[in-house]
Amino acid sequence: EAPLLAVQDLAKHYPVRRGLILARQVGTVRAVDGVSFTLNRGETLALVGESGCGKSTTARLVLRLIEPSAGHIAIEGEDITRLSGAALRRLRRRAQIIFQDPYASLNPRLSVGDAIAEPMVVHGIGNAATRAARVRELLGLVGLAAYHADRYPHEFSGGQRQRIGIARALAVQPELVVCDEPVSALDVSIQAQVVNLLKELQARFGLAYLFIAHDLAVVKHMADRVAVMYLGRIVEIAEKRALFAAPRHPYTRALLAAIPHPDPGRRGKVTPLGGDVPSPMAIPPGCRFHTRCPHAAEICRQQEPPALEVAPGHLAACHFAATLPPADMAVGGGLS
Ligand code: SF4
Ligand code: MG
Repeated sequence: EAPLLAVQDLAKHYPVRRGLILARQVGTVRAVDGVSFTLNRGETLALVGESGCGKSTTARLVLRLIEPSAGHIAIEGEDITRLSGAALRRLRRRAQIIFQDPYASLNPRLSVGDAIAEPMVVHGIGNAATRAARVRELLGLVGLAAYHADRYPHEFSGGQRQRIGIARALAVQPELVVCDEPVSALDVSIQAQVVNLLKELQARFGLAYLFIAHDLAVVKHMADRVAVMYLGRIVEIAEKRALFAAPRHPYTRALLAAIPHPDPGRRGKVTPLGGDVPSPMAIPPGCRFHTRCPHAAEICRQQEPPALEVAPGHLAACHFAATLPPADMAVGGGLS
């Protein structure tokens, strides 16, 4: 059976131009540079990496909000890379997005009820009365009272606005929901509530989540599998347990080491990752991580590492993925 979503060698390259009148191309930003993964029904795949690694661009490509430069996207085996018109609108109904910033993502002039009903209007679902009933039901599903439908976004807290964003995303009964850092802008005390709500809704409706995050701590309670991105590529992908317990890529290890251990007495010394992330206009040759990797050798500067399958379903794009010594996961990050 085909996975709900399959992405193959996906790329998004932007030309960079200088000059106002006779603009000439001075380079290329390789924002997404050959990404492949699958996502099953009811599953959560986390896409994790530092800002600028291409995770949000990957999400927008999957939703067909921007056009890929290369590669393929399939939903249940059907290639949707070049869909347009009515077929693209049907796809939009199956795949929705929850945005990072609950303050910016809701139109301040629309009542909460109208904001939640809008996707149903766009897709021609129901009439005014059935949509109003559905809005009340959706508000209940996300833990808000029905009378909130007549209020406006400014009357709500960040956490409540994110619940409204979730209700809006679920209005058209999608199968796939892209969650673009849905808790990053919220207070830590609110984050767990929203994560738990997303998990509840997933269990209830069999939703698949592509869950984007910039650190591994958030995905620990959310993901089934984790894909770690660096400079436009997935450098490691594995079941969550395997990734946290036995990471095989030096970059994943660095991200894990940056998570403070919950017990202060067991916090070791974290060696921060040296150097800056190179520009996606100047991706290093060979292994793109070699300028910051503590294990870099000559081959790393020369040859791009293939994705090695170090265990079933566990891939790491490192020349030494199979031979690096086990990581010292006592420092942080271990799956508690
Ligand atoms: Fe580091 Fe080399 Fe592995 Fe790249 S291939 S992650 S530079 S050891
Ligand atoms: Mg982003």
